[in-house]
Amino acid sequence: MSRRPGFPARLPGAPAPAERKPAAVVAPATAPRGLGLDSQAVRANMVQKIAAQGVSDARVLAAMNAVERHRFVDSALVNQAYEDTSLPIGLGQTISKPGVVARMIELLLGAPGAKARCGRVLEVGTGCGYQAAVLSHVASEVYSIERLRGLHERARANLRAFRLANVHLLFGDGMAGFAQGAPYAGIIAAAGGEAVPATWTDQLADGGRIVAPMVMANRQQALVVIEKNAGRLSQSILESVHFVPLKSGIA
Ligand code: SAH
Repeated sequence: MSRRPGFPARLPGAPAPAERKPAAVVAPATAPRGLGLDSQAVRANMVQKIAAQGVSDARVLAAMNAVERHRFVDSALVNQAYEDTSLPIGLGQTISKPGVVARMIELLLGAPGAKARCGRVLEVGTGCGYQAAVLSHVASEVYSIERLRGLHERARANLRAFRLANVHLLFGDGMAGFAQGAPYAGIIAAAGGEAVPATWTDQLADGGRIVAPMVMANRQQALVVIEKNAGRLSQSILESVHFVPLKSGIA
């Protein structure tokens, strides 16, 4: 069994809490206003639209229905929380479109109904923590890494109330993966680079999948799915997507 860090976990080499510089402050999303008791109905409507777009895996639809997306966005944007749109979350980053989150998690899980949950998942790009919360419903453990300290802290604040014991938030450069949680049944990236780093394929379990946006020769991003079977990698390139860039280092 591999060691599982506490919550939040710290990467080797990352400064201990006492040595940390003050983070660029991003206020946690405040309590929802304007949605009231209807949020379940609005969310069910969002899930219906996602199903109409072609996502059929019941595990994914149930997870999208369970997570209150409005708790991850600024109060000024709360009434857009269940629209199929990305929204700003501070520091120039965005919460991903719910339709794309659902599509990518469906790809990550593979054949519908194969298992109730998949094993350990690494998410690169925690942002506000929304996708990590969705993943916590479909994976045994979620390791989610963010390179911007302000967003890592914000995700921690956002997720606290959900008490998701299987989500481990990490501050660091996700291009290096997170060896302590490896091997992963799935690796999912919320930021697009020029290539999928070799550390990710190294940290992928046999039978596992990587789902990531990647910049293509035409400079547009497309979703890439990489599978590892008997040590061999195979890659499929799917539809075009628009994600923030994958960057190296921490800030
Ligand atoms: N998963 C989020 C989406 C966040 S946007 C959601 O649920 O909506 C993508 C995030 O990836 C940004 O916060 C950005 O800072 C982060 N990111 C970019 N490159 C990274 C890297 N190398 N390691 C970790 N995080 C990275």
